[in-house]
Amino acid sequence: MFTLRRLCALLYLSTLSICVCAGPDSQYQVQQIKDNVYRFTSGKYHSAFMITKSGAFVTDPIDSQSALYLKRYIKENFDVPVTFMAYSHNHIDHTAGGENLTTENTTVIAHKEAARNIINTQLPTAYPNLTFTDELVVELADSRVKLKYYGRNNGYGSVSMRFEPANVLLAVDWITLNRLPYKNLKGYDIEGMITSTKAVLQEPEFDIFIGGHADTGNRKDVENYLAYLQALYTGVNTQMRKGNNLQSIQKSLQLSQFNHLKMFDEWRELNIEGVYNTLIDMSYYDMRPDIPPTQSKTESN
Ligand SMILES: [Zn+2]
Repeated sequence: MFTLRRLCALLYLSTLSICVCAGPDSQYQVQQIKDNVYRFTSGKYHSAFMITKSGAFVTDPIDSQSALYLKRYIKENFDVPVTFMAYSHNHIDHTAGGENLTTENTTVIAHKEAARNIINTQLPTAYPNLTFTDELVVELADSRVKLKYYGRNNGYGSVSMRFEPANVLLAVDWITLNRLPYKNLKGYDIEGMITSTKAVLQEPEFDIFIGGHADTGNRKDVENYLAYLQALYTGVNTQMRKGNNLQSIQKSLQLSQFNHLKMFDEWRELNIEGVYNTLIDMSYYDMRPDIPPTQSKTESN
């Protein structure tokens, strides 16, 4: 680790506030985002952690090997215990392997809906032992983390976490800066994503946003992301209510004002499909007498 630490120190000096530490396997990176708040990267996944003299507050373990790496990294670089671990939501691709990041003394936090699903499905991770409904504030030395739930947006119990006093905000999956949301929005609630993102923007301003994927950014980046969600949802909704089928919507709803976003060419049609299917599944558009029939209606149930 001497070499890594030295690399960190050199990078720290050269970039003033950013420390990028590549491990022996470049799949893993740790970046100091602001003050005592860091972003942990494993491949295409990100989580965050906050270091205090009383211990570390970590978020998603991501998977077993990532969790082992992060636990060792925190021990070797900061020599503090993992006092709290909080899940962003229930999905296994962010929450697996928690037992490798925690100890018997770690408080494991989740929203009550995420905790219920993790336990019901016997998800292979550390089970939560502290749950909350709307908000939770965790004090740790001279820092704190404010967890907040805005309703359904992705999976179960997907929350934001604000690290203070650094004033860094984390949200996973339902806000992805400078990139489209994932493929056909499996497990997402598009209306909830819009509502939750608006709620985040109505709160006191954060200095830096960290997502579970894609880029870090600021308030303007979140506003741009919200604009995409709204254009996507409004476009699909409007065309479906005219009776247009999926293929015609995918052809006509170009959303080209957002073509600078990552994965735009690859995922635009899939995003449209996701909203289309959500409006059938959740709003029964295929049973609406006021909507003209299309060629792609599903069987009613
Ligand atoms: Zn994700």
